[in-house]
Parts: sequence; structure tokens; C-alpha cells
Amino acid sequence: MEVKIEIVSRFAPSPTGLLHLGHAFSAVVGWQAAQTAGGKWRLRLEDIDTARVRPEFGPAIVADLAWLGLQPDGPVMVQSARRDQHLAALATLHERGLLYACTCTRADIARAASAPHAGETVAYPGTCRDRPPLPAGEFAWRLNLAKMAEQSGLNMAERWHDRAAGGQQAPADTAGDPVLMRRDGAIAYHLACVLDDAAQGVTLVTRGDDLVASTALQRLLQNILGLPEPQYLHHELITDADGLRLAKRNQAATLAGLRAAGAIGDDVRRQLVRQCRPLLAKAGFALRE
Ligand code: GLU
Repeated sequence: MEVKIEIVSRFAPSPTGLLHLGHAFSAVVGWQAAQTAGGKWRLRLEDIDTARVRPEFGPAIVADLAWLGLQPDGPVMVQSARRDQHLAALATLHERGLLYACTCTRADIARAASAPHAGETVAYPGTCRDRPPLPAGEFAWRLNLAKMAEQSGLNMAERWHDRAAGGQQAPADTAGDPVLMRRDGAIAYHLACVLDDAAQGVTLVTRGDDLVASTALQRLLQNILGLPEPQYLHHELITDADGLRLAKRNQAATLAGLRAAGAIGDDVRRQLVRQCRPLLAKAGFALRE
């Protein structure tokens, strides 16, 4: 018998700027999937990379989504408020001997607290893996993937399923042992993301395919931490007329800009819903006209 899961999707923007149409498309994919399935749609502000986050963008994101007609179900989760839970999970991994202290340069690890976007993989060679434990101080915590595979039988080569794209596998040249806490104390995106998805009861992760490479590691973390595994649906990033990714452009059409120019939020949302219809149909969400 097929067990039907309740669809709980989420939008998890980092408040590092105003939402543009590319973000709005991503939000609408998850929102519409939940609407179609009679499920729920959650919002989480991923604000733990303090070097990049600006406080004013959190409320601006909530306001822009409201203008689009997207109201999250339940309270907005603010990731930085969950530090105790993030640290507790890190401690669990440490007790199980799965972490080691790494003193490699900041340049190596600066990316760890941000979601790595396409083309940003830096392979860590495992330099500190066999170093004896260090006294508390200036180091990052890395996850020992080989040890984790020994303990759980799982590794990065594990295949997983995307609801639209089907069977997926991480490329062989993965980033190596990932940083789970940077030396400045910032918890890495991957760890915070899986813990917070679980805390929000997320059963369907929808996000841009620039994050597809994150999924293999996130699934391993879910498994080792005993978290439920959500389904995944990655979407292509929408581009402008010249084929440039909106997120990469400084002049990307922001929702605030569209609103100021007199656009109607409902119209913009309807247009985005039309645009995500083929993807959702492919993922098995039958949209009514
Ligand atoms: N906060 C991440 C970003 O804005 C998205 C993380 C996710 O959807 O898993 O790129």
C-alpha cells in the first residue's frame, strides 16, 4: 500500500538582500506544491551567516511574500534563534567520534556557513583528519565522512531521488570532509538546514538546482542524526532574456522594485504559478486550472 505523506514544503531564504523574481519563483514552487496537495508551506529565514546577513532584509522578505499573496503556515522560523539545537546536534556528532578539529586557512572554510551555489566546490584534502585533539580555541569542526561511512554504512555516493529529475548521485569530486562549524563559531548551512527542516516538519524540500550538490551530504546528516528524510524537488534557476541568472545580476528585478513600479502582487504570483506548472506536473503535482 502506498503511504501518502502530508506535503509540508518550505522557503528558506537568506536575508542578505531583497527578494528578486528568481527567489519569488522558488517560493512559488514550494507554495504551489503545498497548495495543490492540501499541505502546508513554511518560511525560514536562514540568517546565521552574520557576515552577509542584514537585519532589515528579514522583515522585507516577509512583506514581499505577503505582497505576492504567499502567507506561511505557522510562525516564521529564524535560524539564528536555533543555535542551542544546532550546538546540541554538533555535540552528538562529536560524542560519536565523527568530528575533528581543523586549523586550515579561513579561505578554505569561509563558504561553509553559506549555501554553496553551483561551481563553488572547494575540495578539502583531509589535512587535519588524523591530528590529535586540540585544546579549545581557533579551529573549525569537520565531519569525518570515512568514519561516518564506517558507522552508518552510508557515503556520499548514495543515490537519491528528485521528484522531477529522478535518480541522482553526487559527483565523485565532492568537497571532502565538510565543515560543520566554522572557526568563528558559525554553524554550517548543511547542519542548520537539516535540523531546521526537521523541526519545521518539512517533508518536501523545494529549492534551486544550484543547491542540488548539497543534497547528498544533507541526506547523510539526516540519517546519522536520526532525522526524517524529506523528499526533494530542485528547480532550474530562472534567467532573464539574456540567459543570465537573476541572482547573479545586480539589477535583478526585485519584488520591491516591481511593487514600486505599480505591479500587482496577485498578477506576478499567477504568472510564476504558470511558469512552475510544467515542473510541478513532472513532479506529480496535478494542478487544477
Ligand atoms: N538559504 C539558502 C539560500 O538562500 C537556501 C537553502 C535551502 O533552500 O536549502 O541560498
